[in-house]
Amino acid sequence: MENQSLHTDILIVGGGMAGGLLALLLADQGFSVRVLDAGPAPARPSGESAPRVSTLSEASHWLLRHAGVWDRLDPERVQAYASMQVWDRDGTGEVRFSAADAGADCLGWLLENDHLTAALFEAAGERDTLAWHGDTPVDDLTRDGDGWRVTAGDQTFTADLLVGADGARSRVRDAAGIPAPARDSGHRALVATIETDQPHGGCARQVFMDSGPLALLPLFGHDGRRCSIVWSAWPQRSDELMALDDDAFGAALSQATGEALGAARVVSRRAVFPIEERHASRYQARALALVGDAAHVIHPLAGQGINLGLLDAAVLAEELGRARAAGLPVAHATILARYERRRRADNLLMQNAMRGFKLLFERPEPAVRWLRNTGLGLVNRLAPARHAFMHRALGRAGDLPRNARP
Ligand SMILES: Cc1cc2nc3c(=O)[nH]c(=O)nc-3n(C[C@H](O)[C@H](O)[C@H](O)COP(=O)(O)OP(=O)(O)OC[C@H]3O[C@@H](n4cnc5c(N)ncnc54)[C@H](O)[C@@H]3O)c2cc1C
Repeated sequence: MENQSLHTDILIVGGGMAGGLLALLLADQGFSVRVLDAGPAPARPSGESAPRVSTLSEASHWLLRHAGVWDRLDPERVQAYASMQVWDRDGTGEVRFSAADAGADCLGWLLENDHLTAALFEAAGERDTLAWHGDTPVDDLTRDGDGWRVTAGDQTFTADLLVGADGARSRVRDAAGIPAPARDSGHRALVATIETDQPHGGCARQVFMDSGPLALLPLFGHDGRRCSIVWSAWPQRSDELMALDDDAFGAALSQATGEALGAARVVSRRAVFPIEERHASRYQARALALVGDAAHVIHPLAGQGINLGLLDAAVLAEELGRARAAGLPVAHATILARYERRRRADNLLMQNAMRGFKLLFERPEPAVRWLRNTGLGLVNRLAPARHAFMHRALGRAGDLPRNARP
């Protein structure tokens, strides 16, 4: 980067998927940007698939393409899915979506989180006005004139605008005194890689059970017989599943999915994550903005967390670019308020929809069961309802800020 001083226009704490994309979009508009991340420089995964994967929507795909990142991804490690099947284990309700319904080639993509962060990091290396510091955990953040001063070990950085992209337990958010109380979702997420008798056929599947949803997300390679699973369940059920040996776990999995893909075997270690939901009461403060999980953490059942985070990054970059074009200071309060207005309602809607889904599927009353199964059946039969559902669930390119539309 040309400007080697420790002051930049914008300082981003957190080089995850949201922070990484934001940094690229800002550098491309001529801002000087610095990313500080607690972890080592991201590296591409190789061999077996990495444990954390994400489904990316069409909107995310276009954003990454716009930032020159999509073409850097290894196509062999990206799995497109062209259909989705959602069903209720105990009832008769089922919805199927296909790319053809949406007039598209595919509904979304599945890729490893590390793969994407590594591609973002590599792209950052080609931007002159962008510096990325790995192994730099931020420990102190204080106001400094109109901007912020940030300390990481014995290094100090200043910026006109500070962005918190530092995940669910954001220190940036805490430093700004923005509340985002954790709400226990009542679920834990068990993730693992499985192999099935029958190929997934590029279909993302999700079965709802009383104890929580189980997603089977199609993975690349292995003749299409591998899926990444996210099994959300009550803590007791999650403990039971973790205590099973691999054979018994495979049997539980096959039974839970009704052998949708024949018998299933686990081929990786199993890991469990607590699912806490959060929503920051504000996305901005003086000379500060929050994006991604620092602003909102939603239940992973619809695989939307990072898709929302990438849209935050795109909208914030668009608003800051607009400020620059109008000759306003980068941290102008009106601009930050506009960013918050454009993103908060959308994110809240998605969070509440996920809560509603979870509640609907865990209620045992026959009337609620009848209603949800009838609802699923209706959504399945009525094309307009199916399209509306798909639009919200998948994030079409129309959600994009103007500067990144295809
Ligand atoms: C089981 C599971 C499955 C999921 N599946 C999907 C899916 O299919 N699709 C989807 O869209 N979303 C999914 N999500 C959600 C998604 O993983 C998150 O929304 C996403 O990772 C958030 O990205 P982020 O960049 O905002 O934050 P993070 O990924 O949390 O990144 C934060 C970064 O900040 C850094 N950091 C933290 N503190 C500091 C500090 N003090 N100093 C410096 N750096 C710091 C960290 O090192 C990290 O790199 C899933 C979540 C779970 C739990």
